[in-house]
Amino acid sequence: MDTQGISDALRGKTYFIRTFGCQMNLHDSERVSGLLDSLGCSLVGDPADADIVIFMTCCVREAADQRLYGQCNSCKSLPTAPSGKRVIAVGGCIAQRDGEGLLTNADNVDVIFGTHAIAHVGELIAQAFEDSERHILTAEDESLAALTMPWHREYSYHAWVPIMTGCNNFCSYCIVPYVRGREKSRSIEEVVDEVTGLVTAGVREVTLLGQNVNSFGRDRYGAPRFAELLRKVGETGVERIRFTSSHPKDLLPETIDAMAEVPAVMPHLHLAVQSGSTRILKLMNRKYSREDYLSLVDAVRERIPDIALTTDIIVGFPGETEDDFAETLSLAEAVGYSQAFTFIYSRRQGTPAAEIPDDTPREVIQDRFDRLVKVIEDTAFAFNQHELHQVVPVLVEGTSKKDSSVLQGKSPKNQTVHAPLPEGARIDDLVGKIIDVRVDRARTWYLSGSVVGAAR
Ligand code: SAM
Ligand code: SF4
Repeated sequence: MDTQGISDALRGKTYFIRTFGCQMNLHDSERVSGLLDSLGCSLVGDPADADIVIFMTCCVREAADQRLYGQCNSCKSLPTAPSGKRVIAVGGCIAQRDGEGLLTNADNVDVIFGTHAIAHVGELIAQAFEDSERHILTAEDESLAALTMPWHREYSYHAWVPIMTGCNNFCSYCIVPYVRGREKSRSIEEVVDEVTGLVTAGVREVTLLGQNVNSFGRDRYGAPRFAELLRKVGETGVERIRFTSSHPKDLLPETIDAMAEVPAVMPHLHLAVQSGSTRILKLMNRKYSREDYLSLVDAVRERIPDIALTTDIIVGFPGETEDDFAETLSLAEAVGYSQAFTFIYSRRQGTPAAEIPDDTPREVIQDRFDRLVKVIEDTAFAFNQHELHQVVPVLVEGTSKKDSSVLQGKSPKNQTVHAPLPEGARIDDLVGKIIDVRVDRARTWYLSGSVVGAAR
């Protein structure tokens, strides 16, 4: 089907998109939306009003699989679509992993597009409208074409900027390298040009995205060039730079230097540890020990003393003992994380860890998980106390969910900050602005205080 045929088939159609999983998926959804917008479709907030329903899926943990099947099947009871016909499309990691097999659990799906097929989604959906057949595309494709497609940004002031796709690390528990392929970096020039364009369009904060940004450039230039990228992105005039994820084994001293020296790089580092036990880290194939990780944290804090450190931790990896777990707890306390994403291990078919026998009772794992959450709450609370009585520049995102007279935004360290809207101010005028807040309350998951001075 040619471009004209695709836009003839899709012009005027409405679409709904639901995204599961990580920022990479959120960004893929922005690309799918951007493509459909450019073909004359419009986004709606309810699947009942949509001619096209798209699910962008995640298969990192098991629960997401079940949720997807439920959502697909519930589309069967939707009222007739506005155009008289509805196409259901599933993209992302489950689509890539299962391909046609997905139909066993969700037989009403019309289009299945894998993680490499985003650039073709318009064509696949248009064909499904035309011939009512199933269209499936999960072939691996080395090109980075999808990263230069139009995209539909959720916020005017913030943009996700993928700098690479895929992962080479094969952590033993993780399905990502199997469904996202090998590491592939964009060029430094392309990323810098994109950020320059975003700054011109009014973006103030970018988050550079990759499964392991520290190895950015290795495939393209023969050695990692993330530090150089940070410095060059810092020269674009963007005011806030964040990045995720950062694998400890590849965090180089030159990157820590760039973080310390580029003013726009925010004082926040997400450094996934996964476990505090060297024995478990080895089984996880993480390629660093507890001591390596702690030395890295020291090196980072030496250059950026008040940096906020966040992490990912898996509880209940096969064979994890109480002693191993105690090492995770003590590491979390020693680092003093400002936040952590904590996960119960989920067995992923096809990964090496899935073959490790384990008879740890579920209640034991749940109890460990609850104890870890408590420790993280304590470290987050303690970390936030440093901000008490300080003036913090806050990038305003909107109002608090609970109270529309309270503005909400993010501090440089990525803490959520609340403050009453100043007299006569309208939130719509403040979203995307930076405003100073004097903090008079520091809780576990937010800071609050009052606005000082004008927004800028
Ligand atoms: N590439 C990123 C990194 O290494 O930091 C992480 C990407 S992964 C989508 C996000 C997190 O999911 C991982 O850091 C890990 O904690 C968690 N995760 C991955 N596989 C998992 C599994 N099988 N069970 C539980 N959690 C898992
Ligand atoms: Fe998964 Fe490890 Fe790659 Fe992160 S670095 S995506 S945890 S394999």
